[in-house]
Amino acid sequence: MRLIFAKKLGFCSGVKRAISLAQSIPKRNNKKGTVTNPVHTLGPLIHNPQEVERLEKRGVKAISRLNQIKTGTLIVPSHGLPRSILKKIEKKRLKLIDATCPFVKRAQLLAKSLHNRGYHVVIVGQKSHPEVISLLSFANGDASVVETPVDVDKLKTTKKIGVISQTTQSVEKFEKIVERLKTKVKKLKIHNTICKETSQRQKEAKGLAEKSDLMIVIGGKNSANTARLYEICKKVTRAHHMESPAELRLYSFNKKGVVGITSGTSTPDWIIRSVVKGLHKTQPG
Ligand code: SF4
Repeated sequence: MRLIFAKKLGFCSGVKRAISLAQSIPKRNNKKGTVTNPVHTLGPLIHNPQEVERLEKRGVKAISRLNQIKTGTLIVPSHGLPRSILKKIEKKRLKLIDATCPFVKRAQLLAKSLHNRGYHVVIVGQKSHPEVISLLSFANGDASVVETPVDVDKLKTTKKIGVISQTTQSVEKFEKIVERLKTKVKKLKIHNTICKETSQRQKEAKGLAEKSDLMIVIGGKNSANTARLYEICKKVTRAHHMESPAELRLYSFNKKGVVGITSGTSTPDWIIRSVVKGLHKTQPG
C-alpha cells in the first residue's frame, strides 16, 4: 500500500485560533481544587468530538443552553452564534471570548449589510448548521437558505437578491446555485464567502482522489467541510469517511493500492497520525 497525502491537513487558521484562545485561559482552582473560573463554549468549539473531549479534560466544557451557567468565561465557537444569543450573553455577567472565525465574521457582516441595503439574502448552505442559523440572524431573519439548485425555484421573492454561502460549502454547488439564481432574479449581488482553506482543500482532494484507489477522509462526522471532502472524493474513487482509527477495522485494505489521505479543517494532527499508524498495521509483512 502506498500512502499519498494532501498538502493541507489538520487544523485551518480559524480552528487553530479558536483552540489557542480556549487554551490561553489559565485555569484557577480554589483550595479545595474546584475550578473558580469555569470556561464554557455554547455548543462544541469546533466540529470534532475527540478534540472537544480533549479540551473538556483541560477545563473547557461545551454546554447546550445558556441557562446552564451563571458565571465564568464563555467562548463563542468558530462557526459563530445567532445575534439574539449574543445579546443574551451581553446581559449576563459572563466574560466573553469571541472565537468566531474571521471568515465566518465576514459572511455575517455581509448578511447584515445586504439586508440593510434592501436585498433579500440567500444563503447557500445546510439549514440546520449553526453557522447558517447565525447568518440568518445577521440578515434579521429576512433570508432564505438554499441547499440545492432546485430550491432556487421555490424562492418566493424575485426582488433584488444578495447571495452568500456557508463558509464550508462546495464551490461547485455554490456556482450551480448562482447560475440558477441568474435566470430568476434581475438584480443579483454575489458574494462567494466560501473560505479559502475550504476551497483549496476541495480542489486538492479531487486531484488526490484521481491518483488514488481509495481515499480516506479523516474528520468529525458532524463536520460540514469534512462531509464535503468525502462527497467530492467518492464521486471520483472509493472513499471512506473516518472520525478515528477505531473505524479502520470496518474495512479491508488492498496491499498494493494507492491510498490518498485528506482531512477536514477541524481534524487534529494527533488523530491523523493515529489513523496513519493504524493503516500501516493493517499491512502485515
Ligand atoms: S474552515 Fe474556514 S471558515 Fe471554517 S474555521 Fe476554518 S478557516 Fe474558518
